[in-house]
Amino acid sequence: MKTMSTIHLDGCGGCQLEMLVKQKHIADLFSLLEFVPGHARTKADVGIVIGHFSMEELKRYRGIYDKIIISGACANESYLELLEIHDNAERDDDAMEMLLKDDLYRVKGCPVSLDELIYTIQCLKEGSSPKQINYPVCKECKEKENVCLLKEGKRCYGSLTAAGCGAKCPSMGVPCRGCRGWLPNAKKELLEKIFMKYEKTCG
Ligand code: SF4
Ligand code: SF4
Repeated sequence: MKTMSTIHLDGCGGCQLEMLVKQKHIADLFSLLEFVPGHARTKADVGIVIGHFSMEELKRYRGIYDKIIISGACANESYLELLEIHDNAERDDDAMEMLLKDDLYRVKGCPVSLDELIYTIQCLKEGSSPKQINYPVCKECKEKENVCLLKEGKRCYGSLTAAGCGAKCPSMGVPCRGCRGWLPNAKKELLEKIFMKYEKTCG
């Protein structure tokens, strides 16, 4: 594994800005693999996909990249939407196979977590599987001994959201809006009831 490339699709530009601002992370990233320009459609071992994408685009990337890293909240949102569409209403076995293939990896965050991106590429280089965090933001929030925002009547989605950000928002008094994506089997209707209960208590 020697080369990587990035594809920037529509999104707010926050992930790209994060990459520009955190120069040290980018230097670390470039020390792992050689960068080849994405828009030349040059083949690369790893493709970093940022922003919303369609099934057609994913098919095209499969012909260019050996491994694909879906990076940031927008790309992850597209991925989950495609999974839902092709697993339900428009059941498409070819699409599902493509979405579930083990050469596809996900790095979360809004903007994308560069630490996790570097970790993922390191794992791919070593031939190991990057670990996915499957516990909620609340765990990290409790470890920081924050006062729970639910008790203040704020709609925090930390209990349903995959951790890994260090409870960044609640630590600053801002409710988690779930940018790292829901945990599997997240019960949104139950949390809605909890919100209502606390909202009544807080008046
Ligand atoms: S503030 Fe949010 S993340 Fe923190 S414990 Fe409460 S619900 Fe969980
Ligand atoms: S606390 Fe929630 S919204 Fe904030 S960075 Fe973490 S996952 Fe994203």
